[in-house]
Amino acid sequence: MTAREAAEPATGDTARREVLRRALEDVRARIDAAARAAGRDPAEVGLLAVTKTWPASDVALLVDLGLAEFGENKEQEGAAKAAELTTLRPDAAARWRIVGRLQRNKARSLARWAHAVDSVDSPRLVDALDRAAGSAREAGERSGPLHVLVQVSLDGAEGRGGVGVDDVEGLAERVERCAHLSLDGVMTVAPRDADPAEAFGTFAVVADRVRRSFPQATTLSAGMSGDLEAAIEHGSTCVRVGTALLGAR
Ligand SMILES: *Cc1c(COP(=O)(O)O)cnc(C)c1O
Repeated sequence: MTAREAAEPATGDTARREVLRRALEDVRARIDAAARAAGRDPAEVGLLAVTKTWPASDVALLVDLGLAEFGENKEQEGAAKAAELTTLRPDAAARWRIVGRLQRNKARSLARWAHAVDSVDSPRLVDALDRAAGSAREAGERSGPLHVLVQVSLDGAEGRGGVGVDDVEGLAERVERCAHLSLDGVMTVAPRDADPAEAFGTFAVVADRVRRSFPQATTLSAGMSGDLEAAIEHGSTCVRVGTALLGAR
Protein backbone atom coordinates (compact mmCIF):
# COMPACT_ATOMS: atom_id res chain seq x y z
CA MET A 1 0.00 0.00 0.00
CA THR A 2 1.32 3.47 -0.82
CA ALA A 3 1.39 6.28 1.75
CA ARG A 4 -1.34 7.95 -0.24
CA GLU A 5 -3.61 4.92 -0.01
CA ALA A 6 -2.87 4.47 3.68
CA ALA A 7 -3.97 8.06 4.27
CA GLU A 8 -7.40 7.39 2.75
CA PRO A 9 -10.20 6.85 5.26
CA ALA A 10 -12.21 3.62 5.00
CA THR A 11 -14.92 5.41 3.03
CA GLY A 12 -12.26 6.86 0.74
CA ASP A 13 -13.28 4.93 -2.33
CA THR A 14 -16.72 6.51 -2.65
CA ALA A 15 -15.41 9.95 -1.84
CA ARG A 16 -12.51 9.55 -4.26
CA ARG A 17 -14.84 8.34 -6.99
CA GLU A 18 -16.91 11.53 -6.63
CA VAL A 19 -13.81 13.74 -6.70
CA LEU A 20 -12.56 12.04 -9.88
CA ARG A 21 -16.01 12.14 -11.49
CA ARG A 22 -16.23 15.91 -11.03
CA ALA A 23 -12.65 16.50 -12.14
CA LEU A 24 -13.24 14.45 -15.27
CA GLU A 25 -16.42 16.40 -15.99
CA ASP A 26 -14.45 19.66 -15.70
CA VAL A 27 -11.62 18.45 -17.94
CA ARG A 28 -14.08 17.22 -20.56
CA ALA A 29 -15.86 20.59 -20.45
CA ARG A 30 -12.54 22.37 -21.01
CA ILE A 31 -11.70 20.09 -23.97
CA ASP A 32 -15.16 20.62 -25.46
CA ALA A 33 -15.02 24.39 -25.10
CA ALA A 34 -11.51 24.62 -26.55
CA ALA A 35 -12.39 22.41 -29.50
CA ARG A 36 -15.55 24.38 -30.28
CA ALA A 37 -13.67 27.67 -29.99
CA ALA A 38 -11.22 26.34 -32.57
CA GLY A 39 -14.00 25.11 -34.86
CA ARG A 40 -13.03 21.50 -34.21
CA ASP A 41 -15.05 18.43 -33.27
CA PRO A 42 -14.32 17.64 -29.59
CA ALA A 43 -14.35 13.94 -30.54
CA GLU A 44 -11.03 14.53 -32.39
CA VAL A 45 -9.29 15.22 -29.08
CA GLY A 46 -8.39 12.17 -27.02
CA LEU A 47 -7.79 12.31 -23.28
CA LEU A 48 -4.78 10.50 -21.84
CA ALA A 49 -4.96 10.32 -18.04
CA VAL A 50 -1.43 10.66 -16.67
CA THR A 51 -1.55 8.57 -13.51
CA LYS A 52 2.09 8.75 -12.38
CA THR A 53 2.41 8.78 -8.57
CA TRP A 54 -1.28 7.83 -8.14
CA PRO A 55 -2.37 4.33 -7.09
CA ALA A 56 -3.91 1.66 -9.30
CA SER A 57 -7.16 2.11 -7.33
CA ASP A 58 -7.48 5.55 -8.95
CA VAL A 59 -6.90 4.04 -12.38
CA ALA A 60 -9.66 1.52 -11.62
CA LEU A 61 -12.05 4.36 -10.75
CA LEU A 62 -11.13 6.18 -13.97
CA VAL A 63 -11.83 2.98 -15.91
CA ASP A 64 -15.27 2.90 -14.25
CA LEU A 65 -15.76 6.51 -15.40
CA GLY A 66 -15.07 5.51 -19.00
CA LEU A 67 -11.37 6.25 -19.52
CA ALA A 68 -9.20 3.69 -21.29
CA GLU A 69 -5.80 5.32 -21.92
CA PHE A 70 -3.30 5.88 -19.15
CA GLY A 71 0.14 7.47 -19.15
CA GLU A 72 3.09 6.71 -16.88
CA ASN A 73 6.56 8.20 -16.89
CA LYS A 74 8.45 5.36 -15.16
CA GLU A 75 8.63 1.84 -16.50
CA GLN A 76 8.65 0.04 -13.14
CA GLU A 77 5.81 2.05 -11.66
CA GLY A 78 3.77 1.56 -14.81
CA ALA A 79 4.40 -2.18 -14.98
CA ALA A 80 3.27 -2.65 -11.37
CA LYS A 81 0.17 -0.50 -11.87
CA ALA A 82 -0.81 -2.24 -15.09
CA ALA A 83 -0.55 -5.61 -13.33
CA GLU A 84 -2.58 -4.36 -10.37
CA LEU A 85 -5.28 -2.97 -12.64
CA THR A 86 -5.63 -6.40 -14.25
CA THR A 87 -6.54 -7.73 -10.79
CA LEU A 88 -8.81 -4.80 -9.87
CA ARG A 89 -10.63 -4.64 -13.23
CA PRO A 90 -10.03 -7.87 -15.16
CA ASP A 91 -12.31 -6.77 -18.01
CA ALA A 92 -10.81 -3.30 -18.49
CA ALA A 93 -9.59 -2.64 -22.02
CA ALA A 94 -6.91 -0.29 -20.71
CA ARG A 95 -3.99 0.88 -22.80
CA TRP A 96 -0.80 2.16 -21.24
CA ARG A 97 1.53 4.75 -22.73
CA ILE A 98 4.99 5.75 -21.54
CA VAL A 99 5.26 9.54 -21.59
CA GLY A 100 8.57 10.10 -19.80
CA ARG A 101 12.26 9.75 -20.50
CA LEU A 102 13.15 6.16 -20.88
CA GLN A 103 16.36 4.21 -20.37
CA ARG A 104 17.06 1.70 -23.10
CA ASN A 105 17.48 -1.12 -20.60
CA LYS A 106 13.76 -0.79 -19.74
CA ALA A 107 12.66 -1.52 -23.30
CA ARG A 108 12.31 -5.27 -22.95
CA SER A 109 10.14 -4.99 -19.86
CA LEU A 110 7.84 -2.28 -21.19
CA ALA A 111 7.29 -4.23 -24.40
CA ARG A 112 5.27 -6.70 -22.28
CA TRP A 113 2.68 -4.23 -21.01
CA ALA A 114 2.83 -0.88 -22.77
CA HIS A 115 0.77 -0.12 -25.85
CA ALA A 116 2.89 2.88 -26.82
CA VAL A 117 5.91 5.03 -26.09
CA ASP A 118 5.21 8.74 -26.62
CA SER A 119 8.71 9.98 -25.72
CA VAL A 120 10.96 8.51 -28.40
CA ASP A 121 13.86 10.85 -29.03
CA SER A 122 16.98 9.00 -30.16
CA PRO A 123 18.04 6.46 -32.82
CA ARG A 124 19.45 4.17 -30.12
CA LEU A 125 16.14 4.16 -28.27
CA VAL A 126 14.30 3.41 -31.52
CA ASP A 127 16.54 0.40 -32.16
CA ALA A 128 16.21 -0.86 -28.58
CA LEU A 129 12.42 -0.59 -28.69
CA ASP A 130 12.23 -2.41 -32.01
CA ARG A 131 14.38 -5.27 -30.72
CA ALA A 132 12.37 -5.42 -27.48
CA ALA A 133 9.00 -5.43 -29.23
CA GLY A 134 10.28 -8.09 -31.61
CA SER A 135 11.39 -10.45 -28.87
CA ALA A 136 8.20 -9.79 -26.85
CA ARG A 137 6.18 -10.79 -29.93
CA GLU A 138 8.31 -13.85 -30.47
CA ALA A 139 7.79 -14.87 -26.84
CA GLY A 140 4.03 -14.42 -27.21
CA GLU A 141 4.07 -11.51 -24.72
CA ARG A 142 2.54 -8.95 -27.07
CA SER A 143 0.38 -9.27 -30.15
CA GLY A 144 0.86 -6.07 -32.13
CA PRO A 145 3.69 -3.63 -32.82
CA LEU A 146 4.78 -1.09 -30.22
CA HIS A 147 3.21 2.25 -31.10
CA VAL A 148 5.54 5.22 -31.12
CA LEU A 149 5.40 9.00 -31.06
CA VAL A 150 8.53 11.01 -31.78
CA GLN A 151 8.99 13.59 -29.03
CA VAL A 152 9.86 17.05 -30.33
CA SER A 153 11.92 19.52 -28.30
CA LEU A 154 10.76 22.96 -29.41
CA ASP A 155 13.55 24.88 -27.72
CA GLY A 156 16.28 22.29 -28.22
CA ALA A 157 16.75 22.06 -24.44
CA GLU A 158 17.97 18.67 -23.26
CA GLY A 159 16.28 18.42 -19.88
CA ARG A 160 12.74 17.47 -20.84
CA GLY A 161 13.63 15.14 -23.66
CA GLY A 162 12.77 15.35 -27.32
CA VAL A 163 14.62 15.63 -30.57
CA GLY A 164 15.33 19.01 -32.18
CA VAL A 165 12.91 20.25 -34.83
CA ASP A 166 15.36 19.57 -37.66
CA ASP A 167 15.93 15.95 -36.66
CA VAL A 168 12.30 14.89 -36.30
CA GLU A 169 11.82 13.55 -39.81
CA GLY A 170 15.05 11.56 -39.77
CA LEU A 171 14.02 9.85 -36.56
CA ALA A 172 10.49 9.26 -37.86
CA GLU A 173 11.98 7.57 -40.90
CA ARG A 174 14.07 5.30 -38.70
CA VAL A 175 10.94 4.29 -36.75
CA GLU A 176 9.12 3.67 -40.02
CA ARG A 177 11.81 1.20 -41.12
CA CYS A 178 11.40 -0.91 -37.94
CA ALA A 179 9.44 -4.15 -38.27
CA HIS A 180 8.01 -4.06 -34.74
CA LEU A 181 7.26 -0.34 -34.32
CA SER A 182 4.35 1.67 -35.63
CA LEU A 183 4.86 5.41 -36.18
CA ASP A 184 1.68 7.13 -34.99
CA GLY A 185 2.77 10.77 -34.81
CA VAL A 186 4.55 13.33 -32.66
CA MET A 187 4.48 14.56 -29.08
CA THR A 188 5.73 17.68 -27.32
CA VAL A 189 5.91 19.37 -23.94
CA ALA A 190 5.75 23.17 -24.18
CA PRO A 191 9.07 24.77 -23.13
CA ARG A 192 8.92 26.27 -19.65
CA ASP A 193 9.39 29.92 -20.49
CA ALA A 194 7.68 29.97 -23.86
CA ASP A 195 4.27 31.27 -24.83
CA PRO A 196 2.35 27.98 -25.22
CA ALA A 197 0.33 29.24 -28.19
CA GLU A 198 3.51 30.08 -30.07
CA ALA A 199 5.16 26.78 -29.11
CA PHE A 200 2.16 24.70 -30.17
CA GLY A 201 1.95 26.69 -33.41
CA THR A 202 5.51 25.64 -34.24
CA PHE A 203 4.71 22.07 -33.21
CA ALA A 204 1.74 22.01 -35.60
CA VAL A 205 4.03 22.94 -38.49
CA VAL A 206 6.47 20.14 -37.57
CA ALA A 207 3.60 17.65 -37.20
CA ASP A 208 2.28 18.63 -40.59
CA ARG A 209 5.65 17.99 -42.21
CA VAL A 210 5.86 14.56 -40.62
CA ARG A 211 2.33 13.70 -41.75
CA ARG A 212 3.13 14.65 -45.32
CA SER A 213 5.98 12.13 -45.38
CA PHE A 214 4.18 9.49 -43.27
CA PRO A 215 0.41 9.80 -43.81
CA GLN A 216 -0.52 7.39 -41.00
CA ALA A 217 1.31 9.53 -38.42
CA THR A 218 -1.76 11.56 -37.48
CA THR A 219 -1.38 11.83 -33.69
CA LEU A 220 -0.41 15.21 -32.25
CA SER A 221 0.07 14.73 -28.52
CA ALA A 222 0.23 18.18 -26.93
CA GLY A 223 -1.30 19.98 -23.97
CA MET A 224 -1.31 19.19 -20.26
CA SER A 225 -3.39 20.48 -17.32
CA GLY A 226 -2.14 24.05 -17.65
CA ASP A 227 -2.08 24.54 -21.40
CA LEU A 228 -4.52 22.15 -23.05
CA GLU A 229 -6.63 24.96 -24.55
CA ALA A 230 -3.69 26.40 -26.50
CA ALA A 231 -2.73 22.91 -27.69
CA ILE A 232 -6.24 22.11 -28.91
CA GLU A 233 -6.35 25.43 -30.74
CA HIS A 234 -3.23 24.28 -32.62
CA GLY A 235 -4.49 20.86 -33.58
CA SER A 236 -3.73 18.55 -30.64
CA THR A 237 -5.41 15.15 -30.98
CA CYS A 238 -4.34 13.96 -27.52
CA VAL A 239 -4.10 15.97 -24.31
CA ARG A 240 -2.14 14.40 -21.45
CA VAL A 241 -3.76 15.38 -18.16
CA GLY A 242 -2.53 14.54 -14.68
CA THR A 243 -3.02 17.32 -12.13
CA ALA A 244 -6.40 18.57 -13.34
CA LEU A 245 -7.83 15.04 -13.10
CA LEU A 246 -6.12 13.50 -10.08
CA GLY A 247 -4.85 16.45 -8.07
CA ALA A 248 -1.44 17.98 -7.34
CA ARG A 249 1.41 15.48 -7.12
C1 LIG B 1 3.28 14.52 -15.90
C2 LIG B 1 3.15 14.71 -17.36
C3 LIG B 1 1.94 15.19 -17.92
C4 LIG B 1 0.75 15.65 -17.08
O1 LIG B 1 1.03 16.91 -16.52
P1 LIG B 1 -0.04 17.71 -15.68
O2 LIG B 1 0.46 19.09 -15.69
O3 LIG B 1 -0.06 17.10 -14.32
O4 LIG B 1 -1.36 17.58 -16.37
C5 LIG B 1 1.87 15.28 -19.30
N1 LIG B 1 2.91 14.93 -20.10
C6 LIG B 1 4.07 14.47 -19.59
C7 LIG B 1 5.18 14.12 -20.53
C8 LIG B 1 4.23 14.35 -18.22
O5 LIG B 1 5.40 13.91 -17.73
